[in-house]
Amino acid sequence: MPGVRTLVVDHPLVAHKLTALRDVRTDSPTFRRLADELVTLLAYEATRGVRVEPSQVETPVARATGVRLARPVPLVVPVLRAGLGMLDGMTRLLPTAEVGFLGMVRDETTLLATTYADRLPDDLTGREVFVLDPMLATGGTLVMTFELLVARGAACITAICLLAAPEGLARVDAAFADDSACPVTVVTAGVDERLDERGYITPGLGDAGDRLYGVV
Ligand code: URA
Repeated sequence: MPGVRTLVVDHPLVAHKLTALRDVRTDSPTFRRLADELVTLLAYEATRGVRVEPSQVETPVARATGVRLARPVPLVVPVLRAGLGMLDGMTRLLPTAEVGFLGMVRDETTLLATTYADRLPDDLTGREVFVLDPMLATGGTLVMTFELLVARGAACITAICLLAAPEGLARVDAAFADDSACPVTVVTAGVDERLDERGYITPGLGDAGDRLYGVV
């Protein structure tokens, strides 16, 4: 099915935690804990279509047919640095997933993203990939990330973002609207009004990396 699917998770606990994350008075330890909890809730929805295969187990009473995650196991890719704050919340639900790292930095003047670290498998043929990036702002980082994953053969990609801007969603959609080989989904807790002149999501929650880890 070509086109990018956007799923805005509509759940009172998601809305509650997102509101607390936005609050300028929320300190870093609390922000990290809330982001972690929020990712686990988003991951539950994001993994709804994860591939499984039949599996037999012996219960204390009888044999039962169930499922287990299909091989190859999914790959989780936090986009450094802020995506790291989402990793534990994701692997809590998918402990057997493998983890690859991608370092992207956004030039705050041009708003262009560049790659500074690539610790991903060269061959992603048949892999389901879950990208973790808290803020889908201009969409530049996510489009570059998706292009790299598609070029390596990813079977499908799901990005989990705490917040998205309409401009970023439109850019991702325009870039992958015709990509029928690799379905792309964006799962987020909310879509805000717009980007401001500095490329920040408005009202947003500020700089996610700074709020997680401080200004370094
Ligand atoms: N990155 C952030 O951390 N926050 C924004 O609002 C936009 C990009």
